[in-house]
Amino acid sequence: MRFAVLAAALASAAPSAVMAAAPAQPAAGVPQGLLPDAATPIAYRLDFTILPDQPRFTGHAEIDIDLKAPARSLFLHGRDLRMTKVAVKAGGTAGTARYTQLDGFGVSRLDFDRTLPAGKATLIFDYDAPYGDGPSGLYHIKVGGQWYAWTQFESIDARAAYPGFDQPGYKTPFTVSVTTRPGFTAYANAAETGSEAKGGLVKHVFAPTKPLPTYLVAFGAGPFATVAGTAAPTPERARPMDVRVIGTQPNKDKMDFALRNTGPIVGLLENYFGRPFPFPKLDQIGSPVMPGAMENAGADTYGDTILFLDTGAPTSQKKEFGMVVAHELAHQWFGDLVTPKWWDDIWLNESFANWMGYRIGNAWQPDLKINAGALDEAFRAMTIDALKAGRPIHQPIATNGDIDAAFDAVTYGKGGQVVAMIAAYLGDEKFQAGVRLHLNRHAYGNASTDDFFAAMAEAAQDPRVLGALRSFVDQQGVPVVRVERTADGLAVSQKRYAMLGTDIAPESWTIPLCIRVGDARQCQLLDAASAVVPLKGMGAIMPNAGGTGYYRFSLPEAEWHALIAQSASLSPGEALATTDSLWAAFRAGEVGPALLVEAAKAMAGNPYSGAATDGGDRLASLRTRGWIPDAELPAYRALIASLYAPKLAALGFDPKAGAHASDDPDRQKLRSDIVALLADTAQDRDVRATLARAAAAYLGGDRQALDQSLLDEGFGAYVAGGESAVATLFDKAAGSDDSQFREAAIGAIGGSGDAATGRWVLDHILDKRLRPSDRLSLLRGLMGEPATRDAGYAWFLQHYDDFVKDNGIFVASSLPAYANSFCSVEKAAEIETALRPKVAQYKRGGLSLDRTVEQVRDCGILQRARGADMQALFAGR
Ligand SMILES: [Zn+2]
Repeated sequence: MRFAVLAAALASAAPSAVMAAAPAQPAAGVPQGLLPDAATPIAYRLDFTILPDQPRFTGHAEIDIDLKAPARSLFLHGRDLRMTKVAVKAGGTAGTARYTQLDGFGVSRLDFDRTLPAGKATLIFDYDAPYGDGPSGLYHIKVGGQWYAWTQFESIDARAAYPGFDQPGYKTPFTVSVTTRPGFTAYANAAETGSEAKGGLVKHVFAPTKPLPTYLVAFGAGPFATVAGTAAPTPERARPMDVRVIGTQPNKDKMDFALRNTGPIVGLLENYFGRPFPFPKLDQIGSPVMPGAMENAGADTYGDTILFLDTGAPTSQKKEFGMVVAHELAHQWFGDLVTPKWWDDIWLNESFANWMGYRIGNAWQPDLKINAGALDEAFRAMTIDALKAGRPIHQPIATNGDIDAAFDAVTYGKGGQVVAMIAAYLGDEKFQAGVRLHLNRHAYGNASTDDFFAAMAEAAQDPRVLGALRSFVDQQGVPVVRVERTADGLAVSQKRYAMLGTDIAPESWTIPLCIRVGDARQCQLLDAASAVVPLKGMGAIMPNAGGTGYYRFSLPEAEWHALIAQSASLSPGEALATTDSLWAAFRAGEVGPALLVEAAKAMAGNPYSGAATDGGDRLASLRTRGWIPDAELPAYRALIASLYAPKLAALGFDPKAGAHASDDPDRQKLRSDIVALLADTAQDRDVRATLARAAAAYLGGDRQALDQSLLDEGFGAYVAGGESAVATLFDKAAGSDDSQFREAAIGAIGGSGDAATGRWVLDHILDKRLRPSDRLSLLRGLMGEPATRDAGYAWFLQHYDDFVKDNGIFVASSLPAYANSFCSVEKAAEIETALRPKVAQYKRGGLSLDRTVEQVRDCGILQRARGADMQALFAGR
């Protein structure tokens, strides 16, 4: 699974799910995590009737099981399923059973009419159940006047579509059929083997799958558009493989990019793993409400804007396509072929796929510079991981309520970087050999973290690497390495990173430390509090060579100046690491704000787009956190303009579609990122006027007036035109089936930063045409801007219950993070008081609230200590 970039940054916003109606309160005798090991499923046969325009679907499920001992009752899973008939065959006779759902997580029990003997039995269910309205279970959405249905099961939502033993440790074949309306397309994990008429409908029958866990099953039906092709044979796979792209009708002309580019990514992965694609075919499926993507075996699903690229799609969208498609397809081996035994090992699944997603995405199209995005994500994860409240990557999962919390920035951003760090330290060949050994040992089965570590140690023939892995995987927190020049070389020491004014328990790590001084580079394991690295080269010290280490660094001020002076020539990874560590030093109280401005200015000359604007984006966050009083805003804006306006003048800027299409993709991205800084943060009048004019023409029907890379900024400038502009854009967005347009327009309206527009939004946020995901986006925008934050927060508090109900259990785990842009010690206490009862009520979001309160308080402490310096800096300009 992979969440959209913005969502991952918030450590939040996972797929929405329908909140179960039954209470989440644990009942006596109800299993809280793993089911008792009383029965093993052997095979599922699932027949669904899916008429997406109806409120409910029907199912017939037969599950062959092996009972370990005679049983009168049996726990299993099923959520909000209305059973019409439950039968059981065992020991050559047939009987009945009573089915009872026991809690809101879908733990259920079967009570048999007699004691079943140990051994083989078949459970047979007839039932119906409601479709979800968001990406959870079997859900339906109306697009362009027609209804479609898809599934999203990870982590524990398969149980809302069919009864079963909904745990990743059970892998069995699934034989699925889907009965739906004539003319509809139906898909499932395996290939369709035939179809037959059935009472005015059509029954599509699919081949039995390879062994799969319940969460990787997928199917759907509707009047889909499809395009079909093949992935060409590779050294690992002798035959071409069938590939289809499937989506709703409004996307029918945007499917070619995905069809052409899926095969090459499959080929790169086969080459890495040394094994063919593990399943017989691959469908790449788009859904308008998927907030990311999901690696269902042979049937991946993606948010529409990830999979469907129009001609002239911007660099950022191509980057996301490459990274996310490679991530999901990497899971086909690492996750689907070899599956975690339980959710405590899901970190390895996601961390590895994250690392592969960036790596293979980069190999697919190097000029997009996808790889540096992994570091960006890791540094954002450090912001979360540096807090006192937190969790290690690898932690026990004891209850159903804990499962979804494992899918956060720590798992993806930190985990991916820890994998990268170990791979870089071992060297590609040894790491790859360990991965292949692991897959070959556990193909079509399950494996644990320890199994993976064992394969790695065997391939590396270096047991010390396990200590390094464990020190990052089993404890939370971010190391910071202090580096100083001495006569013997570099004196290095490690401690746990802490923000100014916070006390945090000490920790230590075994750090694969790679330092570069000029052209001299050295790597060693730092497993003590301090050491000397015998490196005496000339030039600036780069304490995180390549930027691949999951650690921050700290330097004496003179060394910071020397490193900052090298900004324009640092590699993307080193440039991102420098900006992150410098800002971390500021937040720890070690350096003053003038150094931040000096660095942003120097780094604006770095050729990599992500590095050139990183400092500006961080300076922009000072305004959104409320650090810049109104009186200082003009000087602050002038500063941002002075950093970036000359860059834009040198690049040239024309908002028309494709005007800069002949530029290198990263240069195109640099231009649109600089336009964003100038339009939003510097409030540059010329840039905003140009954007507003282009957006008005675009909305008037001239699709060539505004490039796709500028939709966010164009609409942002357009809505500053006042209430009629806001109302016009809102109407178009609410009625649109173009996901890219809709997301950009809703985002611009929510994030206007204007108090009057904010009030208008709150008057219209309950408009029936909006989806729950649109409301979340509007709220995120309101609470992200100082002028609308208080009003947005008040509304958020009033409607917290609705947000939980409409967006479900997964979003409920992260809702408190919407308040994390406040910056005050008092506000932190207020948020604690207001939200703690909600978190307790829903048993969701506790960690998110802990982190939010801490971030808001830490920011307030820092502002008290450093706010005056910061203001003096701008006032003095
Ligand atoms: Zn994933």
